[in-house]
Amino acid sequence: MNRHVVIVGGGFCGATLLFHLLRRGDRSLRVTVVDPSLELGRGLAYAAWAQQSLLNVPCGDMSLDAAEPDDFLVWARLRFPNVTPHSFLPRAVYGQYIMERVYSVWRDECVAHLRDSVTMLRPELAGWQVTLSRGHSLMATEVVLALGNPPMFDPLGQCGLPTNHPYYFPTPWPCVALPITHRNASVMMIGTGLSMVDQYLALRAQGHSGPCYAVSRHGLLPHTHITPLPILPSELAMRIRSAVSQGTLYQRLRAFRSLVRQAGPAWSWQAQFKVLRENATMLWQTLPHKERHRFIRHLRPYWDAHRHRMAPEVGEAILSAVQDGALQLLRGRFLHVHTASGRFVVTMAVGPDEPTSLEVDVLINCTGPCYQAALRRPLEQTLVQQGLAQPDVLGLGLQCMPDGQMIDVRGQPVIGLHMIGHARRGSIWESTSVPELRVQAQQLASLLLRVATPHGAKPFVTQPVR
Ligand SMILES: Cc1cc2nc3c(=O)[nH]c(=O)nc-3n(C[C@H](O)[C@H](O)[C@H](O)COP(=O)(O)OP(=O)(O)OC[C@H]3O[C@@H](n4cnc5c(N)ncnc54)[C@H](O)[C@@H]3O)c2cc1C
Repeated sequence: MNRHVVIVGGGFCGATLLFHLLRRGDRSLRVTVVDPSLELGRGLAYAAWAQQSLLNVPCGDMSLDAAEPDDFLVWARLRFPNVTPHSFLPRAVYGQYIMERVYSVWRDECVAHLRDSVTMLRPELAGWQVTLSRGHSLMATEVVLALGNPPMFDPLGQCGLPTNHPYYFPTPWPCVALPITHRNASVMMIGTGLSMVDQYLALRAQGHSGPCYAVSRHGLLPHTHITPLPILPSELAMRIRSAVSQGTLYQRLRAFRSLVRQAGPAWSWQAQFKVLRENATMLWQTLPHKERHRFIRHLRPYWDAHRHRMAPEVGEAILSAVQDGALQLLRGRFLHVHTASGRFVVTMAVGPDEPTSLEVDVLINCTGPCYQAALRRPLEQTLVQQGLAQPDVLGLGLQCMPDGQMIDVRGQPVIGLHMIGHARRGSIWESTSVPELRVQAQQLASLLLRVATPHGAKPFVTQPVR
């Protein structure tokens, strides 16, 4: 069989991988992308509905190809002449850019987009049988899973409540639109990260003027980007890198904080944090398992608040909403929710005190992606049952080799099965945003173009799924 790569998922990662395969691939390579969406590349983040929401990474870091860092900027300037590398454009505009780049290398004779979902993969002698939700299947020599952000943890479902309440929104995507009758309704958003920020601004843009609450364990808002970011002297960047590359988690944290203090305000913490981000893979991989666990349990909310920052104009709007009380941040552990007379009564533990309850009309889940929820999606569930995949020990994704080749239940790499994106988080912590994902896509494209998969031996299957 000629080489046929099937990419499952056509969001940012799937589309970027396709782009690199087509740009560099030979004409005998066939590629099929399976994704139910109409447009490739947009995925969840850059959908056409995201016209009001801004990117949370400046233009200068959003090019599809890390080796051509100005590509997005050049594209954007043809449409918005005042754009600079430090501008934050609407997410829908970025989706348009990815689509245009992908369709610019499209060749009908070797690429197809099937608007469907993959429900199962079965290893065969010559490769993989890929089963689609409508019952058809296709054969592939290699399969890449680019399934995107896992769904969110569902607080209502967890409390045993039916999740079909008309004013419970299990996800903030696409942004929740309230009917005109609910313009003054009280709204609680569970989560205080960037999803909450987008949702709050979307409600206000719709003319909503009721009280808004946002709750999370630490009540931390994302910090705001500063632009332009000062370029650190290389000696300082090297000192940061070496200070955080060994020791326990808390020793590394202390070393970093002390360097930030010593460096003083001239070198913003944001610029110094960038060094951490650029070295995140090394940092993550040099932490022993126990320390990674500690990071997830104790430091993650602080990492997220510093790492996933708001565009400056967004930060300004949110901070002023918090200041004037239009958006109230609550610090508490979500315990329970029940309904009374159609409203939600949310109970939270705040410090050592008795739990407190708050009654609201609308509840929006903004808790962010949770990989345990992904393991309930049919494809991941089946792969784990088949023994072709196994969750990573911290529950962040699926186990894989550094190059994305999946690892089976015996701990062996699975021939011809790769993944890219969020599911790699267990081994590559920074697997969530464009600057890192585009590199994963580029490297995987190079690997696929170099390596013809040595099929012939039937890959190991523990429990065939009927
Ligand atoms: C709201 C939001 C805003 C963001 N903003 C930014 C930003 O400004 N800058 C930044 O760098 N990062 C941002 N991110 C991070 C973002 O997740 C990544 O940039 C990137 O979009 C992830 O791409 P992906 O392909 O992994 O996932 P997605 O783009 O979500 O694509 C996954 C695709 O897989 C498909 N799929 C899933 N399962 C199957 C199946 N079984 N069969 C077939 N298809 C399937 C889905 O339909 C989907 O189209 C944002 C994320 C979100 C959620």
